[in-house]
Amino acid sequence: VTPSNVDISELLARAGEDAEGHRARAYRSAARAALMWAEEAWELAVEGRSLTELERIGPSLARRVRAWIEEGREPVERPRVRYDFTSFAAARALVATQPERGAIRGDLQMHTTFSDGVDELESMVSHGVDRGYAYVAITDHSKGLRIAKGMDEAGLARQAEVIARLNATLANGGTEFRVLRGIEMNIDSEGAGDMEPDALEGLDFVIGSFHSALRAAEDQTPRYLAALRNPHVDVIGHPRGRKYNLRPGLVADWDRVLDEAARMGKAVETNAYPDRQDLNREILAGAAERDVWISIGTDAHDVSEMRFVDVGIAAAMEGGVRPERVLNYLTADELTAWRRSR
Ligand SMILES: [Zn+2]
Repeated sequence: VTPSNVDISELLARAGEDAEGHRARAYRSAARAALMWAEEAWELAVEGRSLTELERIGPSLARRVRAWIEEGREPVERPRVRYDFTSFAAARALVATQPERGAIRGDLQMHTTFSDGVDELESMVSHGVDRGYAYVAITDHSKGLRIAKGMDEAGLARQAEVIARLNATLANGGTEFRVLRGIEMNIDSEGAGDMEPDALEGLDFVIGSFHSALRAAEDQTPRYLAALRNPHVDVIGHPRGRKYNLRPGLVADWDRVLDEAARMGKAVETNAYPDRQDLNREILAGAAERDVWISIGTDAHDVSEMRFVDVGIAAAMEGGVRPERVLNYLTADELTAWRRSR
């Protein structure tokens, strides 16, 4: 058996647990990077290429990984903090088998320099155009998340002007593309947002996300039900708040949460960022059973991270989600009508 990148990631993470100091850090960061490699490491080995082509793999880690590939080492069990993850390489390969599933119309979560993104709004948009999308939703953080330089109501209004100008320029230039006005609004454990309701009126897409108490061990079902019942929220962003090899994510009675999402006609996100993958495939299967709407967002903070969209598409495919229930296959008009229908 040849270990996949997910297996190699697990082996690297375990090696990191047995190491100390800078070696432990090198293993940990390589374990995280392995989920983002574009090709399977074993393919490089077969082609006689150096494994140091892979991000975060230097000569000594390359020797270790090559030995695992030659031995056919394959970990079986994974701890909760690394459970049910796929890799970008595996996701790309899966999506390539069904091009019609790959053909989403837009990316529904991304950040720009209006909050903690690295690239300007215009760059994110033009990259979306280059990717062949029909729209992107710009979803910068709201003011409650100071660490992410969240926008206040005035910032959101300034962004609205930039987006309106950009949409006019695109239309005048004959480009069929729409920039959707969104936000990733911080919500507290009572389900309340941190923005004045009036400021949210003109938006096309509101993601509500938890960014605090993400290590709580006890059941969090009430906060999800409260968030879904917030009338301004369309989508629950990265619902579990998990991070690969860092925190396993919140615990809830997902049957109840997904029943409520279905009843309200709201969406849950599958965040495509490789070390989030949130919701994960196992819980997405429960969403698929109930025909809950799914939103795929890369949560990109620069243009290059938009490539990880395949991780979210693959998760929806593997969770058995029907394409008719994925917001990203709707047209921009259908998407805004979906929001208004509630
Ligand atoms: Zn977030």
